[in-house]
Amino acid sequence: GRVIDARGLVHEYPDGTRALDDVSLAVEAGESVAVVGPNGSGKSTLQLALGGLVTPTAGRVEYFEETTDAEAVRERLGVLLQDPDDYLFNTTVREDIAYGPAQLGMAEARADERVAALADALGLTDLLDRPPFRLSGGEKQRAAVASVLAFDPDVLLLDEPLGAVDAHYRARILELLDAHDGATVVFTPTLDVVPELAERVVLVGTDGTVAADGGVREVLTDR
Ligand code: ADP
Ligand code: ADP
Repeated sequence: GRVIDARGLVHEYPDGTRALDDVSLAVEAGESVAVVGPNGSGKSTLQLALGGLVTPTAGRVEYFEETTDAEAVRERLGVLLQDPDDYLFNTTVREDIAYGPAQLGMAEARADERVAALADALGLTDLLDRPPFRLSGGEKQRAAVASVLAFDPDVLLLDEPLGAVDAHYRARILELLDAHDGATVVFTPTLDVVPELAERVVLVGTDGTVAADGGVREVLTDR
């Protein structure tokens, strides 16, 4: 089924900057979509709009076809913004990663298991009792990724999840996303590297419109 159906999104910031200009994007369950485009083309704004974190000036986003209950949508949508500090506000890294599962009422045993498994996969085990502000940039980003994956969302909206992490952990994060069975992923890759994970590429132009939308090769070799 259709997981996200965005139609005619226009977003203008208060200063008049038009970041999105008539963007439509439908994402089917299980798809992995990379949103690419130059700096300032509107990729982050699009992620915010898809995640319901900004209300677009015009247009609308529908989720899961018939489901309209905002609470239900929130439980199924994992949104990772560009700044890891938005996710790290508890006393320890462990509490940050466990925050989502606790909010959603996940059984404690299952939550503990997920925290341990994600910490292990992302090299955070020895950092779990540290305050998050004492992490390096790359460690923060890994902890933020863990905190979004921890509550096991069906849909992941990830804005540059790999920017601050080294090659080793980039590969680990991509493995985790790949193994996140049946999940739908919309992500903004770092630089021009579109990892193998992506099946589809949406190219946003400098004018905030969708310049191309299709298979990875189709979109990227034409340019
Ligand atoms: P990208 O993620 O592709 O770099 P953004 O969505 O961050 O693009 O930005 C799109 C456009 O909107 C840019 O021109 C940017 O300067 C502008 N913009 C982003 N955030 C704001 C804001 N809070 N206020 C005004 N303009 C903004
Ligand atoms: P990165 O290459 O990820 O940016 P850094 O050079 O910032 O790494 O940090 C290197 C190591 O120092 C990391 O293992 C990190 O845990 C540790 N470290 C960084 N900042 C602090 C801090 N404020 N307190 C304790 N350890 C820290």
